[in-house]
Amino acid sequence: MDFELTEELKMLKEMAYKFALAEIKPIAQECDEEEKYLPEIRKKAAANGLVGAWIPEEYGGAGAGILGNTIITEELCKVDMGNALNVTAAAFGCESIWQYGTEEQKKKYLPLICSGEQVSAGAYTEPNAGTDVAGYKTRAIKDGSDYVINGNKMFITNGDVCDFMVVQCITNPEEKKHNSFSLIIVPADAKGITRNKIHGKMGIRASDTAEIALEDVRVPQSNLVGKEGHGFRQLMHFFDTTRVMVAGQALGLSEACLETSVKYVKERTAFGAPLGSYQLTQKKLAEMAIMIEALRGMTYKLAWLIDQGKPDYNLAAMAKFYGGQTAVFCANYAVELHGGYGYIEEYPVQKWYRDAKILELYEGTKEAEIMTIGRYLQTR
Ligand SMILES: Cc1cc2nc3c(=O)[nH]c(=O)nc-3n(C[C@H](O)[C@H](O)[C@H](O)COP(=O)(O)OP(=O)(O)OC[C@H]3O[C@@H](n4cnc5c(N)ncnc54)[C@H](O)[C@@H]3O)c2cc1C
Repeated sequence: MDFELTEELKMLKEMAYKFALAEIKPIAQECDEEEKYLPEIRKKAAANGLVGAWIPEEYGGAGAGILGNTIITEELCKVDMGNALNVTAAAFGCESIWQYGTEEQKKKYLPLICSGEQVSAGAYTEPNAGTDVAGYKTRAIKDGSDYVINGNKMFITNGDVCDFMVVQCITNPEEKKHNSFSLIIVPADAKGITRNKIHGKMGIRASDTAEIALEDVRVPQSNLVGKEGHGFRQLMHFFDTTRVMVAGQALGLSEACLETSVKYVKERTAFGAPLGSYQLTQKKLAEMAIMIEALRGMTYKLAWLIDQGKPDYNLAAMAKFYGGQTAVFCANYAVELHGGYGYIEEYPVQKWYRDAKILELYEGTKEAEIMTIGRYLQTR
């Protein structure tokens, strides 16, 4: 067992953090205030090999593996989770193309994401069904050599800025629910698509989130990802590799909360001594550090397992759940340790507090993760 990062991964970590400080930090507050998605950040990140970094080199990626991609996510999220998402989730949905797509689909879509030219989205959630994946209603009906798709998708990351999306549709309604779904690639400019950006998010406001309506959208049947009727299983497999990204986001944000708080309590004095000299303050810092250390271990192990070809659905749910808990906990303490200053824009901790909550909601709510773990424990 070796817990040391390779020299390559150490260099990648350093480079990603430097990138975040140089390119993301200066615009983070403006993007948050104005809900601004800046494509140039993604393009610059792509030029540095940070977009779709998990994608193998033969398809244009950096071949950094899931561990490398997780480390990039962590470093960017130390600075700003919204812009970090625009970089690391630029390939969102492509995990399924990589896992189940044809060679032609991989060659067509993956390099365009890695070069920063295009952005993808994974469109699963619907207005009336999120956690209840089997409750999705979007329907794809065969017509000649095409599918004709009708339905609505909700809360789709990159929804308004993407070039194509991987959409979960019912293709086989006659089958039992879990065997009725398929994933289909849909170009974002296809006739019949309406995209509406969702405004007023609590956090990650630099990230684009949209509602998408599909009305008689026609795509060739060759856009099917993998086998018809396998969409539900494919989505579960997709979560194996994307929940680790959420754990990485949580790790970066939590680390930022701790580092910033340590610096602050050393400088700020109360009752004639630095805040850090008081045991109540130390307790808060120590609790944050313990959770971060545990989260890092869980997250890196999960990423490493995926790179070994041994994805772990249960550990993914655990890391995602614990990541959300850790980030919300650390952001809360960071605000408290900053006192009134933690509550105003001048300090980033109020933003991290708002950003953190999404980690308990998307990619499966914390309740959904708990249910996954609870079910798994009874199948062993
Ligand atoms: C900013 C943002 C970005 C997102 N990006 C994407 C994206 O790119 N693609 C995508 O497809 N989706 C995306 N989502 C959607 C997200 O994954 C869903 O919002 C989430 O899965 C929850 O679904 P829901 O909102 O329908 O809530 P619901 O499923 O209605 O759940 C509401 C509450 O009920 C709880 N609940 C549900 N079922 C049970 C049960 N059986 N027992 C106990 N409690 C239960 C839930 O945990 C939650 O607390 C995004 C959401 C946001 C806010």
